[in-house]
Amino acid sequence: MTPHFNPGKYKKRDARETPPRPFCSPDGRVENFLSDKDSSRRQFLRMAMVGSLAGLGTAAGMEFATPRLALAQSKLSPDAALQELMDGNRRFTSGRLTAHEQDLAILKQHTIEKQEPFAGVLSCADSRVPVEFLFDQSIGHVFVARVAGNIVTPEIIASLEYGAAVLGTKVILVMGHGGCGAVKATIQAKEVPGQISALYPHIQPAIDQTGPNLDAATKSNAKIQAALLREASTVISGLVKEKKLKVAAAFYDIGSGTVTILE
Ligand SMILES: [Zn+2]
Repeated sequence: MTPHFNPGKYKKRDARETPPRPFCSPDGRVENFLSDKDSSRRQFLRMAMVGSLAGLGTAAGMEFATPRLALAQSKLSPDAALQELMDGNRRFTSGRLTAHEQDLAILKQHTIEKQEPFAGVLSCADSRVPVEFLFDQSIGHVFVARVAGNIVTPEIIASLEYGAAVLGTKVILVMGHGGCGAVKATIQAKEVPGQISALYPHIQPAIDQTGPNLDAATKSNAKIQAALLREASTVISGLVKEKKLKVAAAFYDIGSGTVTILE
């Protein structure tokens, strides 16, 4: 039996903590991005490429690059979206998680065909940084890109551009974390197997800025990567200029579970 979608049924959040987030959208174009096969991914990358080549940072250009911006994406403002993440982190650190109370069967059912995440997060691949969990979020809420050292590469930009321009994320958090092995290895400039050292050049500018202090370099790296994201993507800088998107750097303390905004 397929349950009918009923927001009141699965949402048990404290009303003073979170405004309701819409999950329904009449937009059918952007469905199944994550589960789609190569064809639509290629199509998206082609679209992103065309957008970049034509310098489509303007509102008109954005409309062309993403002809069917969803009509019912998150209605949160960028500041409110960031606050929603921080509220979720406060629930996480205080042990009052609510995401698990949402009916996962209904959420899954409702997000098969579309997704309308309100936030994007670029985090390290580190296993101690479970992004959805530490922001107390469930299925369909956060568009997460992860790579060791939370560095910005063309593929990461493409992913986060898709999250913002097509799916409608209102905030992108670039989040470093305590005890980051990628930053530590770059500081030590150690011989490492395979292609691990390919991360070093991305992280080195932060170490040049702060010296070999791990936490300081990790925070600096998050800020540098956030700035890079804002500057390297005309799509993201356009949305930021229009005040439809906010890009912030953050630091996750793996001991306390606290996320701190760095800028
Ligand atoms: Zn790390």
